[in-house]
Amino acid sequence: MEEKEVKTFQFVVVGGGIAGVTCVEQLSSQTPCADVALITAGPHIKAVTNYRQMSRTLEEFDVEEQPSSILQEKFPNLSVIHSAVRSLDTKSHRVQTADGRYFGYNKLCICSGGRPKLLSQDNPHVLGIRDTDSAQEFQKRLSNARRIVVVGNGGIALELVYEVEGCDVIWAVKDKSIGNTFFDAGAAQFLIPSLEADKPAAAAPCKRLRYTTEEPTPEAAQTFTADRHSRGGSSASTESGSALGPDWHQGIILKGSEQVTRRVSVEYQCEVENIFTSKDHLTSSQGTHRHENESWPVYIQLTNGKTFGCDFIVSATGVVPNSEPFINGNTFAVAEDGGLCVDDHMLTSEPDVYAAGDVCTACWEHSPLWQQMRLWTQARQMGWYAGRCMAAHASTQPIELDFCFELFSHVTRFFNYKVVLLGKFNGQGLERDHELLVRCTKGHEYVKVILSRGRMVGAVLIGETDLEETFENLILNQMDLTPYGEDLLNPNIDIEDYFD
Ligand code: FAD
Repeated sequence: MEEKEVKTFQFVVVGGGIAGVTCVEQLSSQTPCADVALITAGPHIKAVTNYRQMSRTLEEFDVEEQPSSILQEKFPNLSVIHSAVRSLDTKSHRVQTADGRYFGYNKLCICSGGRPKLLSQDNPHVLGIRDTDSAQEFQKRLSNARRIVVVGNGGIALELVYEVEGCDVIWAVKDKSIGNTFFDAGAAQFLIPSLEADKPAAAAPCKRLRYTTEEPTPEAAQTFTADRHSRGGSSASTESGSALGPDWHQGIILKGSEQVTRRVSVEYQCEVENIFTSKDHLTSSQGTHRHENESWPVYIQLTNGKTFGCDFIVSATGVVPNSEPFINGNTFAVAEDGGLCVDDHMLTSEPDVYAAGDVCTACWEHSPLWQQMRLWTQARQMGWYAGRCMAAHASTQPIELDFCFELFSHVTRFFNYKVVLLGKFNGQGLERDHELLVRCTKGHEYVKVILSRGRMVGAVLIGETDLEETFENLILNQMDLTPYGEDLLNPNIDIEDYFD
């Protein structure tokens, strides 16, 4: 980097998503005398509100998109810089932003999130959903759509196919059952009837996606555009905002142009072979197209031999960590999934550089009951812990891995059911000798417990089961449950009393 005027901060955090904001909040409150800077590409920041600790590891919260001034009012030692980081020089400890400025750091935390893994980079008919702007673009395109194809089997696809109305949805999943990232085939079977039934009327008032009317600063607006071009992303996504999170679809009407409530058909065990525009389709010599009289803006050919015409395709096949601007010119250890490897202090392989949230890959030796998933809760936990580690290291204090990394736990809603996932909820990485206990009441609840050598190591709870705290304790204390056998899930036994 050439010599320029450099403003140096004790702590610099990059990214205004949940990981970056939580990290900054932690640093600013723990070290009120230190200079802290938040550098973020988007004009808004994401803040955790209504945080509620439900049990030792389960937590629930809302997320608000706020103007950054709220943060600055709260923490006088914090400066917010609205520009994208273009490059990092770990040797001289400084970053360069898109508007040509340089900022030095003593300690840096990269929380730049991820972006949708798109099926096709420059195809205007392929949308990814990541942030508020891409969700609004999706809503706009959907309002004129008669048929869409959703590709992917993770949380976003699950939510989309359930929420979209007034439009045919073809859902292409690569697995034998839906929601494979979160459930087994039994749970999928439990949920499938909800796709066929009418959706219950929304009980809660609509939430807004954006909680401010603040106009972006000129630099911020510029950064937005520059960022979009630089990443060569999809037509719809600006890719510079923070990721959406729980309840992201509640603030927008996801309705197509037809009168139907919901019509979802699932294509199992297939991937995308090819995507054609209508012109390609007509001139294509491929003989596999399903004959339809109508013409569509785009056609998608699946590996099961079927081709569908549709208005547009939603690519919901996961995220790619936004690590490129930081990697170039440095020697970061990068994981197979493209994330920056971090150790049990959220430190990357470069000195004084930490990372948290979707951009990082947890490369420490995990507790046998925890795994990384790029989720809202983990972004908060990692950001919070990274802030604590940075502050502790700056004052040469020792710090131990936080308890939240002992047990994987996640609460969410799918198909209008409460879903709690604990530990190795899908038997991830377990030997074949593990046992499953299942209790299922159609339309009411699905409870699955995973036992390994008589100890509970994971659970999936769908519906209002009220079992989460008891099961969390049983998993954490690793008590031998062999004597209880199937009574563990006997609906006539009050399990909570049983283990009191
Ligand atoms: P992000 O929220 O992506 O924030 C990254 C920040 O970095 C942004 O502010 C961006 O502007 C900034 N940035 C990026 N590059 C740069 C750069 N070069 N310079 C400066 N700033 C930069 N999780 C759940 O737990 N439950 C859910 O129900 C759920 N639903 C979801 C629904 C959707 C549609 C999506 C997309 C995600 C969902 N997730 C959900 C996942 C969750 O949103 C993410 O795991 C989480 O938000 C990641 O937070 P983060 O802070 O790491 O990254």
